[in-house]
Amino acid sequence: MDYRHKTIKELKQDLIDEKTTSEELFKEANELAHKYQDEYNSFVTIIDKYKKRAKNDSMINGIPYAIKDNFSTSNILTTASSNILKDYIPVYDATVYKKLKINGGVLVGKTTLDELAMGGTGTTAHTGVVKNPWDKKRLIGGSSAGSASAVSLGIVPFSIGSDTGDSIRKPASFGGIVGFKPTYGRISRYGLFAFASSLDHVGCFTRNVEDAAIVTDILKGHDPLDMTTLKDEDIKYSEHLDDDIKGKKLFYIKEICNIEGYEDENIKKTFKEFYKLVDKLKEEGFIVEEVSFDENLLNAIYPTYMTISCAEATSNNANLTGIQFGPRPKGDSIDEIMFNARTEGFSELIKRRFILGSYILQKENQDKLFLNACRIRRLIVDKMNELFKEYDGLILPASGSFAPTFDASSERLNPKATVLENHMAIANFGGFPSITLPMYYNNNLPVGINLTGKVRDDKTVLNMAKKIEDIVNLKNKVAGDENV
Ligand code: GLN
Repeated sequence: MDYRHKTIKELKQDLIDEKTTSEELFKEANELAHKYQDEYNSFVTIIDKYKKRAKNDSMINGIPYAIKDNFSTSNILTTASSNILKDYIPVYDATVYKKLKINGGVLVGKTTLDELAMGGTGTTAHTGVVKNPWDKKRLIGGSSAGSASAVSLGIVPFSIGSDTGDSIRKPASFGGIVGFKPTYGRISRYGLFAFASSLDHVGCFTRNVEDAAIVTDILKGHDPLDMTTLKDEDIKYSEHLDDDIKGKKLFYIKEICNIEGYEDENIKKTFKEFYKLVDKLKEEGFIVEEVSFDENLLNAIYPTYMTISCAEATSNNANLTGIQFGPRPKGDSIDEIMFNARTEGFSELIKRRFILGSYILQKENQDKLFLNACRIRRLIVDKMNELFKEYDGLILPASGSFAPTFDASSERLNPKATVLENHMAIANFGGFPSITLPMYYNNNLPVGINLTGKVRDDKTVLNMAKKIEDIVNLKNKVAGDENV
């Protein structure tokens, strides 16, 4: 088997058996990163010099990985894919990066994202669009576009991303890989550029569920530098992947899964596959039931997400002024410098979101817009928690279909498809652990299945996901594999 197909566990075994060295793995990853860069644009920065790491028995010791360019990495360019930070070199490390270093992970590069992690297409980075490894005419999705494509291409066996609305789990679906965001607070956000702090999560991309558990075991834990982190529960998720799932109860949402109202044939195909999977899950011991969810609440997911995320983003990004960070433009006064920095530094999408956010946060609008969105968020989370008293997980297609082409990505969706394409934000509203893994391939283009579980119950989510992965039997693919 070649390097591109190997999992963390397999590479680790090769290192133990001295079939390869960490430096050789780095060289391999570095060559692949360069080979694919012009075509796919996974990276903002590719690291070219192998750095000797401390040896220890961590599962990722000596293993190459990539990290999204919105994590602070000292002495390494960190742009968040925005012109306003295009020459910014941080002086401190994000906690996740520090942990990866201590464990001996080998950094291959900083990956491209939608500017400041806002957006879901992977097309808004200041260094250009990221393409889908399964079909270059299509997007990979975002915002963690480069992290997804780097794993999908087989450049690295795992990468780190952030997820505010679905930014790990959607590109995982379009890339044919696993994307996991654990419970809010499970992994420290210290050093992750804040987008919408109440929704932001750190997570990972891998090629199978076991590797996602391995990476989460390493990254999780309380961090005094992030007061929202949870106390560690001292459980290794990777040791519970084969626990018996018999009797575990899953639900899916009737209003989303009823195919009436979808026009696209490919969406219908996805649901056909979805129902086939549901039948197989039942055969293997899961209980799966259809549940009705208030349609008003479902229709409110996207506007609620936009209202809260734009408001928080506007406040969080107020420090990007050209004064503290990034290039400082000319200007006769501080006001003029800030005006020029923000005018030149942000793309249209970002400006639009900040205008929305400023409007939402205006004193006279706050109650009607911001606080109302917070109330709706609470209603959605309460409903989910009520369902989680009876069920262990929510299962739904991660996207209606495979990745859209670049031209099609700006088409307006009908209301039903809007819910289908945005339901994963529910997991951000409630901080629920949520994972996407491959479900099926439509003409060699992947479509993922998403599983969301109870808050703090990452163990069960990973355990159930592993079982689903065994049933689907599509793990460890890299782009270009045939007959999938
Ligand atoms: N697509 C969503 C947005 O546009 C999610 C982004 C994210 O999760 N970072 O904001």
